[in-house]
Formats: sequence, C-alpha cells, structure tokens
Amino acid sequence: MQTNFTLAQLADPDTAASEKILRACVHCGFCTATCPTYVLDGNELDSPRGRIYLIKDMLEHDRPATAEVVLHIDRCLSCLACMTTCPSGVHYMHLVDHARVHIENTYDRPPLERLLRAVLAWLLPYPQRFRLALLAALPAKPLAPLLDAIGLKRLAAMLRLAPWRGPQRPLGPQIFPAVGGRKGRVALLAGCVNDVLAPQINASTIAVLTRHGIEVVLAEGAGCCGSLVHHMGRDDAALAQARANIDAWTALEGLDAIVINTSGCGTTVKDYGFMLRTDPAYAERAARISGLAKDVAEYLATLPLKPAQAMPQLAVAYHAACSLQHGQRVNRQPKELLLKLGFKVLDVPDGHLCCGSAGTYNILQPDFAIRLRERKVGTIERLRPDVIAAGNIGCITQIAAGTKLPAVHTVELIDWATGGARPPALRAS
Ligand code: SF4
Ligand code: SF4
Repeated sequence: MQTNFTLAQLADPDTAASEKILRACVHCGFCTATCPTYVLDGNELDSPRGRIYLIKDMLEHDRPATAEVVLHIDRCLSCLACMTTCPSGVHYMHLVDHARVHIENTYDRPPLERLLRAVLAWLLPYPQRFRLALLAALPAKPLAPLLDAIGLKRLAAMLRLAPWRGPQRPLGPQIFPAVGGRKGRVALLAGCVNDVLAPQINASTIAVLTRHGIEVVLAEGAGCCGSLVHHMGRDDAALAQARANIDAWTALEGLDAIVINTSGCGTTVKDYGFMLRTDPAYAERAARISGLAKDVAEYLATLPLKPAQAMPQLAVAYHAACSLQHGQRVNRQPKELLLKLGFKVLDVPDGHLCCGSAGTYNILQPDFAIRLRERKVGTIERLRPDVIAAGNIGCITQIAAGTKLPAVHTVELIDWATGGARPPALRAS
C-alpha cells in the first residue's frame, strides 16, 4: 500500500514502524474471512483491511481520532487471526497498538466510558484490589439480568464474569523448590486476574514443574504484564508495568525461562523487546526477557513428562486461545502433551475464531462478545466433549459462562495426568 507520511512524521519511531506495516499490506482482503467481527456483521470497517485504512488515514493526516475510527478500532478484539491469515506478513498487532495509543491521546470519550476504563485500569492489574472488587460483586451477581434489562450491559457483563465463590488471596513472592534434585529454574508470571480468579492454575503449574525437577520463583516486584492497559492505549502505564517486571526478572540468576500460563500475558511479554526498543535503559534487557518468555505448554513440551496414573478416557475439546495460536503461534504443544498423556483431543471447528473474551473486551463490547461466545460454545457442545481445555483464564471464564461443561486450563489436565490433583472443575463430574 502506498503511504504519504512526511519526513517529520517518520522521525517518530512509532509512526515509522506503522508506515512499514502499512506498506506491507497489499489490500488483498484475505484477512477479512477470518476476522471474527467481520464474520459477525459483514461490515468492511469491522474487518482488518477496513481498520488498516482507517488507521492509515488517521495517522497520515495526523488527525485526532474520530468517533467512527474509535467505534471500529474498539470493536477489534486484537485476536490477531488476521496476522495468521495475512500472506504479506502485515504486523497488525503493532499497528492497532499504535492506533489505540493515538486514540487514547486524541479522543475525548464520553464521561461514563472514561470512568469505566479508568476503573478497569485501576482495578484489574492489581490482585488485591481485584480481589476486594470480586468480594463486593458476589452479593450483586443476581442483579445482572436486571442491569441488562435497564441497559447497563457492561455492568451486567462484569457481574456475570465474577465467580460465585469467594476470590482467593494472591500468591506472594517466594521460591518453590524442585523435587528430587534441581534440573532447571524458571520464573513464573503469577498473573493478576489468573491468581485471584483461578488459583488452581498456578498451583497446577507449580506442582507439575517442581515434580519434574524445576525450581519455580515468583519474583519480588513482578506484577501485571501490562497487557490490560496496553490494549486500552495507556502506553505509559503499560510500559511502567513492563519495566517493573523486567527489573524483577533480571534480578534473578540462572533462569532457563519465564513461564507464563495466561497466553494473553505471554503475547505481551514476548513483545517487551519491541515495546521498549527505543528506551536505552531497557531495550537490551527487554529483548532478553522476551526471549526467555515461554508459554507453559511450550516449556513443558521440553520436559520428559510421563503419565503417572491411569487416566479416565476423557474427550477434551481443546480451545486454542487467540493469543496462543495467533499471538505466539503455539499450536502443536498443548494438543501433543494432552495426547501423550492419554487424553482424546477434539479439535474445535472454526477454531481460529475468538471466543469473545479478549482481555476487557467482554466487558467493554458485551454485544459482540456474547455473540462470539454463543457461536464458540455451540461448536464446542456439538463435539460432546467431557471437558473443555484452554491456555488462558480469559477464554476459560468466557466460555464457562455460556456452558455447563467443565472448563479447565490445559496445565490442570497435564498436572493431573502426571501425578497431581484432579482439577476442581472435574471433581463433581
Ligand atoms: S491479508 Fe494482509 S495484505 Fe491482505 S488486506 Fe489483509 S492485512 Fe492487507
Ligand atoms: S485482530 Fe481480530 S478482530 Fe481485530 S482486525 Fe484482526 S482478526 Fe479482526
């Protein structure tokens, strides 16, 4: 695609990076077929190609974002299916990230929208605050249908996603020693939402790793990866969170990997090198941290895992989280691990399409998110699985809210099959 940026505009490294991306797009439109929002509404402006044109026009003319641009960029899930499909290697993720920062800096959102975004950015990345919010949400959960009926759909979506049980206390910094002689050492990103909503995911990750001789460290000072605010265009906050993690992990010696069991966070940590490429104090360390980041399935695939107990022949519908399949291109390992450990793995038709979770998307865009969830749950239920497995807490929460089938993290099944506890979601079944 031809672009018309001035030399002055191209002096800005973000604009220069976006210009390179725009030039790679040959507007063939292949990406439209796999874009969930285009599949839902058939509107070119809700397709990757349409969004690329909107972003190009906005950046080239150095214009403040318009309501039209904001509408269609906000509807984008950042699922990155378009990147997997694109034959020209267009790095849509970096382009839309840049557009979101531009929107945040130039567009005046309505006061209620601003307030909601500010609350989410203040709450979600901080496990203690998030835990208190979930405690407060518990008695209000039955009000969700009423809030829906009076048009407060986002509040209703938040209440629906809150669990019925009380939230857990997040894990603090500590070391979990390897069992039977240390063969490796990793840092674990405990995650902010993950740790409070579903502590069994970190427990399983720690159990399976330590049982196979890997020491697990939760680093002092590590916290949210920054993706929640990054996807809202709050660049300063996202970069501050990234820098804090880089400081925390580089203080640890002898790390073989930074293991991440929330694939949305994994995609962001793997991008720290790009996000901080112009920061002389962090660029080199950020690139090193990105190189060390591994999804938990990616790391476990390098260990000699063996089934430790005879497993029931469970049929597992494997839902590939977008951030894992499109963001990190980790496709093979989770399914191979499950197969190797005795599970029957069912591929979900249209598996490239997002479930509608996408960080805070299911709160900020509840209509699209619910339609995507219904579509996803329908395709999964038709497979008649015993259990649904996914590698991201967002997908697990989103899908579980629409089905009676148990939904677990892939690592819970791996831990169970190698001698760990049965996943809580399967205890009643
Ligand atoms: S598939 Fe790639 S090159 Fe084609 S329109 Fe989409 S982003 Fe552009
Ligand atoms: S990231 Fe997903 S929703 Fe956004 S344009 Fe690409 S395919 Fe569509």
